Amino acid sequence: MSEHAGQHRDEVVKETPYRGRFAPSPTGDLHFGSLVAALGSWLRARAMGGAWLVRIEDLDPPREVVGAAERQLATLAAFGLLSDEPLVRQSERHAHYEAALQRLIDDGLAFPCACSRKQLEASGGLHLAPCAAPAAGTPHAWRARVPDIDIAFDDPVVGHYTQSLRREVGDFVLKRNDGLYAYQLAVVVDDAAQGITEIVRGADLLDSTPRQIWLQAALGLPTPRYLHLPLVLDEHGRKLGKSLTSLPVDAQDPLPALRAALRFLGQHDHPDCSSVTALLQRATTHFDVTAIPASIPSRIGEGSD
Ligand SMILES: [Zn+2]
Repeated sequence: MSEHAGQHRDEVVKETPYRGRFAPSPTGDLHFGSLVAALGSWLRARAMGGAWLVRIEDLDPPREVVGAAERQLATLAAFGLLSDEPLVRQSERHAHYEAALQRLIDDGLAFPCACSRKQLEASGGLHLAPCAAPAAGTPHAWRARVPDIDIAFDDPVVGHYTQSLRREVGDFVLKRNDGLYAYQLAVVVDDAAQGITEIVRGADLLDSTPRQIWLQAALGLPTPRYLHLPLVLDEHGRKLGKSLTSLPVDAQDPLPALRAALRFLGQHDHPDCSSVTALLQRATTHFDVTAIPASIPSRIGEGSD
């Protein structure tokens, strides 16, 4: 074997296999916007010959709906979207979040804060200035001590994205004063633990990504690639999942919603495929990431406001 061929083989071996994920919060039934995110991440993973994992982001019990996680998983299954590995539930991973928080505290990158929402009003809700240490026994949050840096990344759909972490985000919460871990901390810990190589999700999380990239560096974790899908908005321009008009997708009749989700992602909807399996297979073969519309939120429906 020539030296060149040997080097090539080594490069192939070293290349990390693609691992993607879908991480719903169990706050209700799976709606069309979630289906788009699930399908987009699944198609990208399959088109890259990789694995697709599902993680239940049940970090916030007061917002969760009993039985919603199971119903979401059953709906995903009806759409042919099955996790390749056992489910991960954030509610079972608090020790990992605590360890990450402790590391940030030890490194001087997290601090206790008892500032009220009202106190932060003057700075637009952002925590920008140092504050007094809370008195012993006072309930307090833990915040990240955010440096004055720009964080940038390149997204295959959105393009180049830059955020000034200090000016646009400020010292963000890692653990709330009610003891709940913040999404930003948990998601970074879990994406690393699951070896996720690319995160495909809705553009509503675009402005969270720089925070997460900074946290990854602070915790010595690898940074995955990021791809943000266009958001599905209702006729009032609100994110579908958060609006009153968002309807759950029909798990009894998955093909129409699956085709609508494909069209929303700029893909062909293959009307000749008569089963979920056939449609997903064909959509994987023809998946074109460059056809996904850029994340300028597009609307469904005709409303204007
Ligand atoms: Zn404070």
